[in-house]
Amino acid sequence: MVEPSNAPFGRLEMAAVQDVLNSGRLWRGNGPGWGSEQDSIATIAAERLEDAIAQRLGIPYVHVVNSGTSANEAAIASLGLEPGSEVICPAVSPVFVPLAILAAGCIPVFADVDPETLIIDPCGIEAVVSDNTKALIVIHLWGMPAPIKSIIDVAMNCGLYVVEDCAQAFGTVIENQPVGTFGDACSYSFQQSKHITSGEGGFFASHNAERYARAVLYSNAGIPSFRFGVSSTGAAATSDTRGHLGFGHNHRISELQAAVAHAQLSRLDSFIRRRAELVTLVDAELQDKGNDSLRTPRPVPGHLPSYWRYPVLVPPGKGTFTGISYLEPVFQQMNDQRRTPFGISLPPHVRYDRGTCPAAEGGVMQIRAVPIHHSLTDNELRKMLRGQFEDL
Ligand SMILES: *Cc1c(COP(=O)(O)O)cnc(C)c1O
Repeated sequence: MVEPSNAPFGRLEMAAVQDVLNSGRLWRGNGPGWGSEQDSIATIAAERLEDAIAQRLGIPYVHVVNSGTSANEAAIASLGLEPGSEVICPAVSPVFVPLAILAAGCIPVFADVDPETLIIDPCGIEAVVSDNTKALIVIHLWGMPAPIKSIIDVAMNCGLYVVEDCAQAFGTVIENQPVGTFGDACSYSFQQSKHITSGEGGFFASHNAERYARAVLYSNAGIPSFRFGVSSTGAAATSDTRGHLGFGHNHRISELQAAVAHAQLSRLDSFIRRRAELVTLVDAELQDKGNDSLRTPRPVPGHLPSYWRYPVLVPPGKGTFTGISYLEPVFQQMNDQRRTPFGISLPPHVRYDRGTCPAAEGGVMQIRAVPIHHSLTDNELRKMLRGQFEDL
């Protein structure tokens, strides 16, 4: 069977699913050694996936979970913050990001962004830091690297942890170092629209064993199913308990999903190459239009984007992108009630009013994001572009 190399799914994914079904085991177990006696590490797809990711990113601790949102929750939980701590995130965030902050019992505080990229602005961070701010989440939006060095400088000055949300940025590197490896913890997603997918899925990663342990407990009902040489210091299971050491959800990934994600990971570089070709094609097509008011992102020295969507700057007011998180009804309600859905009171300086982040509110009105999925043919992309920009 011949298949186009960038078909979203092919023989590798089929074989991976078949192997899992043949094995008769569709879950990873609660941890190493949990399954039947015959289990060896090599038969557990989730573990193979974690090992492959750790190697690819060059990071020692990886825990795969059932979504990017779960990975964000694990990343925040991994910091061990007190309830009511403020956590900064960009005004232009998929709502999963501030929701993950809420889930940890913390308070999302929105920082303004660069209006041309919608990526968090280091000065915007400084402007909203309070005595109660403990962490910030940076999003490598569109697969473009955020200015991580300046952001980490600000974070060090203010004593904040840094979480990198890399859901849109698998393959993005800054001076040869993958995004996600600069901060204290990171999250990635395998949701259908992302660079590689198992339908739903994601992972947490960190350089720090203690944060990894907290993330695992949070994602696996408090069970210390640690890998990578991390051992539990908590009380062991006894004859009448199973050893749940702390609070946690069940955010485990299934073996079917892990096996598909593992197969997709082996194709990631070919997907990235195709996406880069499509970006070049968008540049050429927009240039042919001869409309000087359309601008594509400027290259930044040392930054190598791995585009998820390609953000094109259009005249003010002509943008079609939406995404000011704090204007979502859930935040408007919190603004009125002055408390989070988990009952944490909002301090007076935390507001979710229109006008809070003016650069973000203006910026979304001048961006159109071009889908550049690796499965698109040149002609499909051209046709889509004509539709997307015909009014300009
Ligand atoms: C997709 C996405 C998420 C959430 O990932 P899910 O797997 O859909 O839960 C979080 N952050 C960003 C930036 C995303 O693009």
